[in-house]
Order: sequence, then C-alpha cells, then structure tokens
Amino acid sequence: MLRIRFKCYRCVHCCFFTEERENPILLWHEVLYYTKIGELMNLKLNFKNLGHGFYRFIIDGYCPFYNIPSRACQIQKEKPLSCKMFPILVNLASLEVSTSLMCPWVYENIDEISRGLSGDDIEKVFSNEFKALKEVVKWVYTVPKNTPKLAVYFTTYFKNLASDIIKAITERYEVIKVTESSVVDGFYYILIEGDADPSYLESLLKRDEITWYKLEKVPPIT
Ligand code: SF4
Ligand code: SF4
Repeated sequence: MLRIRFKCYRCVHCCFFTEERENPILLWHEVLYYTKIGELMNLKLNFKNLGHGFYRFIIDGYCPFYNIPSRACQIQKEKPLSCKMFPILVNLASLEVSTSLMCPWVYENIDEISRGLSGDDIEKVFSNEFKALKEVVKWVYTVPKNTPKLAVYFTTYFKNLASDIIKAITERYEVIKVTESSVVDGFYYILIEGDADPSYLESLLKRDEITWYKLEKVPPIT
C-alpha cells in the first residue's frame, strides 16, 4: 500500500518541449475545441493527425497556452486530458498505465512507485490525474467513431440565453459534450452525436444576443 500522494511542483517540464515525440496527444473532440479557442485567443496552434481520432499537439519550446511570467497554464481548468492526466501515461491498446520520468515528482519517488504502483494505488496516488485517464478511456472506447457528428460553437454574454439554447439542443439531440469556456468569456462548445438539423440550430442561434456562431460537421474519425 503506497502512502505517497502526487504533488505537482508547477515546474515547466510538461509545458516546454524539445522533441516532438514528447508533445501532448489530444483526442479529436479536443482538437475541435482548442482550434476555436486558439482562433479566439489569436494563438496559432498546430495539430498533426495520427489517425483513429488522435492528434499530436505540435509544440516546439513553450506551449502556446503557457504563461511564462506566472509560470502557469492559461487554460488550467480546461486543459487537454493528456495534460490533466500527466504524469500518468497510458497505452490505449493494452490499457497499461505507467508514469513519466520527465516529471520531477515521479523521479524523486520512483523507488516507491516501482515497488508497488498498481490497481487501486494508482487511483489513490494520482486521484485527479486518474479521473482524466478514465475520461480518456471513456472517449476512446464508448463514443462511436463512424456516426455523424456536429459541433456547435457560439459566443454570447447572455448566460441565461446560452443555458436555454443548450437545454433546447440537449432535449432534441444526443449531446455528448458541452463546454462553457473559462478562458474565452462567453464561448460555448456543444458536440452532437448523430444527424442534426442545421436550420433548427440556426433558428436558435441567429439572434442579436449571439455575437458569433458556427456549425461544423465533424469528419469521420478514421
Ligand atoms: S512535470 Fe510533474 S511536477 Fe512538473 S508541472 Fe508537470 S506534472 Fe507538475
Ligand atoms: S495546455 Fe497547459 S498544461 Fe498542457 S502543455 Fe500547454 S500549458 Fe502545459
């Protein structure tokens, strides 16, 4: 039974990259979201399609979301799942879990980790990171890849209106993701599983209180 608990030192090791193979791997629905967030924040982001719904977030040096003076991720609350789960790593084919020695906390505790990190211990030692890992596994194994999907993005400063729109869409369609950005004020992202009627969605979104919106068909995940 391991008594250690992971403590992030807020060093820069997982936000500064010198080799592409160390870059974060994102899921397809995250790439849709961060592409829009990047546009709204005037950041140029690059993603490389690795197939099967995985993308590499191409970063050379500091991550574009890293704020150097405050030594913090600007999108801390909504950072990618792979960043949330770090220093846990997972092999999604075998579901084998390991830890990254790039992280100084792992490096300092490697003897204890290698003695007994298994099963429930992982969840106890890395409680928040393990939640992110479970979320990754859920997306990879339970969300169908070949069905049509539609992403809805909009910005508004009227929170009640945004809630009403989300409720209307959720009542009519199978919504698999809703995000209200904590980084870009008033930005919402809704992901619909299955066919959705664009004219119905436009009837909800085409109004003065919505400053911008976009409907985007999600290409098949191959
Ligand atoms: S490398 Fe480890 S300690 Fe440093 S910021 Fe990342 S998770 Fe935290
Ligand atoms: S998104 Fe945030 S946590 Fe992830 S690499 Fe960039 S700055 Fe670091």
